[in-house]
Amino acid sequence: DLAARMSERAVDLIKYFMKQGTMMVPGDVLDADTAELVAGEFGHTVRRVADSDIEEGLFGVQDEAATLQTRSPVVTIMGHVDHGKTSLLDAIRSASVVSGEAGGITQHIGAYQVEKNGQKITFLDTPGHEAFTAMRARGAQATDIAVLVVAADDSVMPQTIESISHAKSAGVPIIVAINKIDKPSADAQKVRTQLLQHEVFVESMGGEVLDVEVSAKTGAGLDKLLEAILLQAEILDLSANPDRTAEGVVIEAQLDKGRGPVATILVQTGTLRTGDILVAGNVYGKVRALVNDQGKTVPEAGPSMPVEVLGLSGTPAAGDRFAVVENEARAREISEYRMRLAREKAAARQSGQRGSLEQMMSQLQNSGLKEFPLVVKADVQGSAEAIVAALDKLGTDEVRARIVHVGAGAITESDVSLAETSNAVIIGFNVRANKQARTAAEQGGIEVRYYNIIYNLVDDVKQAMSGLLSPER
Ligand code: GDP
Repeated sequence: DLAARMSERAVDLIKYFMKQGTMMVPGDVLDADTAELVAGEFGHTVRRVADSDIEEGLFGVQDEAATLQTRSPVVTIMGHVDHGKTSLLDAIRSASVVSGEAGGITQHIGAYQVEKNGQKITFLDTPGHEAFTAMRARGAQATDIAVLVVAADDSVMPQTIESISHAKSAGVPIIVAINKIDKPSADAQKVRTQLLQHEVFVESMGGEVLDVEVSAKTGAGLDKLLEAILLQAEILDLSANPDRTAEGVVIEAQLDKGRGPVATILVQTGTLRTGDILVAGNVYGKVRALVNDQGKTVPEAGPSMPVEVLGLSGTPAAGDRFAVVENEARAREISEYRMRLAREKAAARQSGQRGSLEQMMSQLQNSGLKEFPLVVKADVQGSAEAIVAALDKLGTDEVRARIVHVGAGAITESDVSLAETSNAVIIGFNVRANKQARTAAEQGGIEVRYYNIIYNLVDDVKQAMSGLLSPER
């Protein structure tokens, strides 16, 4: 790497070291001082760059209040399997095709925009909380509002509860869509009542969560749902500065046979234009073309607008953040830095588990945070509740358990991703992790602990928590 940076041949560098009495082969690591010395010997001047400089100014540039303009909300649809997430996304899309666009080819690019009362709403087209969590795991928050779909003939189910946990842990407001209201067996009131148990209080129950009865099949209530979304957006007062270089998040990406790497991105601030140079994750490129959800080439994309980007050097991952930079050299520097970071992370992951109780303790101790995040899964709801109650009792003024999610049933991938985003340990009581979950936990370095005696479980957590207490003076 050093040789390449100096535009020298690696063999000359190796010879140099041999003269100094050191055997070096490509891939060996030099400390910074040696590297600087060597570069000097080869007649180069060294500019030391701190890691923090490399990405400096890339994200999080604060916009002056005066530059902010209202932007449309970005919505994710979550809920239990078969409750109608996909049907709802399709129904909303086909009912709200922007007039004049009818007959245009609908492109599934991972997100789309509809118009209601002259205002736009962006829907992320990948239903479920997997995409949502995958993004959060990468530090990106793309969603402003979560629409929780609950089938009125089936009511609250395990993934409904998971979705609630995901939305809550992300701090994203929920709108409840009570779906399949056309079915004779539909019981919307039952849904509302059951949601109470999971601390989702809809308006008619004295809460603040908006709820709408809909049918993805007949189209009933869809207008109301869109209105509820706009109302919620108004409350959130969403804004962004369109007059600056663009930043945002990657929704999905793939390698297209004809077009090369294609990424669907969501602009979150600024305006992205053809010809801009952008970095996304560890790939970069000059924007060759922007294609909207109607399959049309557009010259630019402003806040909350999803577009396909052509011209990248590779496919970034869903959830990668992107930003426009001033030139290609800078784009390359950032992308190389990120690749190195990714390699280092992978190496660190091999050598240690991130989510072990002990490590978490020391992490929390350092951060001064005295909360102990846990995901609790048990064989039956009754024991899950008993465990949560017992863990709650352990809490003191100084430290307490924070239950990120609790549920009955096997430990799933979704539990693991939730643990990953909230840095939690997973506790299984009389349940095991399924195969996918085990793989995911291994990859993410998430600790899963199994118990069949509540006392042992509580005792372990107590031990770990006592490690968090400040030493007595
Ligand atoms: P997903 O797994 O949540 O994406 O659910 P789908 O959208 O695939 O829907 C599951 C099933 O429910 C499909 O057979 C749909 O046709 C049906 N379905 C979805 N919405 C409605 C609705 O409003 N009314 C009726 N009767 N059926 C629906």
